Amino acid sequence: MINNISFLCYREALQIRRMSTKHGLAKRFHGSEKNVWVEFSKLASDYKAVNLGQGFPDYKPPSYVTEAMKEAANPSNHLLHQYARSFGDPRLCNALSQIYSPIMGRKINPMDEILITVGGYGSLYCCIHGLVNPGDEVIIIEPYFDCYEPMVKSAGGIPIFIPLRTPSETTDGKLSSADWKLDEKEFAAKFNEKTKLLIFNTPNNPLGKVYSQSEMEMIADLCIKHDVVVISDEVYEWLIYDKKKHLKIATLPGMWERTLTIGSAGKTFSVTGWKTGWTIGPQNLLMPATIVHQNCIYNVPTVTQVSVAIAFEHELKVSNTPESYFQSLPPVVMKKRDELAKVLIDLGMEPTIPEGGFFMMANTEPLAIEVPDDGTDDPKDFKFVRWMIKEKKLAAIPPSAFYSTKNKHLGEKFIRFCIVKEDSTLKAAEEILREWKKTL
Ligand code: PMP
Ligand code: GLN
Repeated sequence: MINNISFLCYREALQIRRMSTKHGLAKRFHGSEKNVWVEFSKLASDYKAVNLGQGFPDYKPPSYVTEAMKEAANPSNHLLHQYARSFGDPRLCNALSQIYSPIMGRKINPMDEILITVGGYGSLYCCIHGLVNPGDEVIIIEPYFDCYEPMVKSAGGIPIFIPLRTPSETTDGKLSSADWKLDEKEFAAKFNEKTKLLIFNTPNNPLGKVYSQSEMEMIADLCIKHDVVVISDEVYEWLIYDKKKHLKIATLPGMWERTLTIGSAGKTFSVTGWKTGWTIGPQNLLMPATIVHQNCIYNVPTVTQVSVAIAFEHELKVSNTPESYFQSLPPVVMKKRDELAKVLIDLGMEPTIPEGGFFMMANTEPLAIEVPDDGTDDPKDFKFVRWMIKEKKLAAIPPSAFYSTKNKHLGEKFIRFCIVKEDSTLKAAEEILREWKKTL
């Protein structure tokens, strides 16, 4: 019963927690029972909805990537079916060092400055739990990938939230993710002597915001001034649109020594089920994460790590040619983004056009739809998406899940759509949106 807690609805989970204090959920996870992915992935599947919810590509990964797994799993490599080196298979660490050394502008030591874990999730968990002591403050920029908050709290840390602000009016009625900005004064006021970490995410989930150099410099200056470490979640680093540039905060002066940079094979090669992630940073700063990793996961499946290594080796060979997946995928996804945005605008929603990543947020307020009460006291977007899945057979994600309790009102007029989908999936979604328009 206790093991099945993630499959239960929030109210049932709370009831179990209350019923059984001795055998119930450990206190450090109280408040984290509700999980947006569990509820909305199930709803999408139960109602056979067109699924623009959870972020995973439903198109095929490139064939060299799936071929890489065939090669790695070949029985002639039988030792690849045994345990890997705890901190990462050497072939993958070497490939990552070759990819990232030129980008970071320094030689990344493959054995001491890279840690391979189970997905970006594993990397975040190891970094946060390795560094945060009870009472430490951790700054989180809203909207944020939802797991940051429970990970900080279960480590005993205190999340300090700061929302990105949008202009009160737009000139042409269109918003870009670049229009969502930190208010410098408001941001600076969040730092104090208890601030241990900043969790930073570019391109951001759910907005697709790609931070500019001047925004990063402002952030870096404050982190240096207050001696704060940055966990920089860059899992969407290769999916950048409109000729924007992805910059690594670790490359700014004085930042390498205080930054842990996280990446994910799942996002990089459109294989989210491979769950292989990495953290790159100076050995002393990475050490706490390696201690957490060696004591809770120890090592990551060898075949998957070697498959990712082979895929990166291929990318290295074709880099800067049209054959490179890192070059060929963004324009394809950009087209999908623009087509969906057009249909959303036509229906009357107001999308924020993302500069990068897997997602697009859209404001549903102009539709003025009265969603029937579903008996919960959840924010409006939860009710809206539940209604949309059931009535329109279209699934999305309610972005108030990416806001703190105090700031959920900032997210509840939006819904989040995943754009990394087959054209046929997007066509089916667009057909639903066009039919919907006829009913307004
Ligand atoms: N960070 C962000 C911003 C994400 O959107 C995700 C998506 N799952 C992750 C980390 C986790 O990545 P992974 O799937 O590799 O665990
Ligand atoms: N990162 C993906 C998203 O934001 C998947 C999240 C998850 O599976 N928990 O949709």
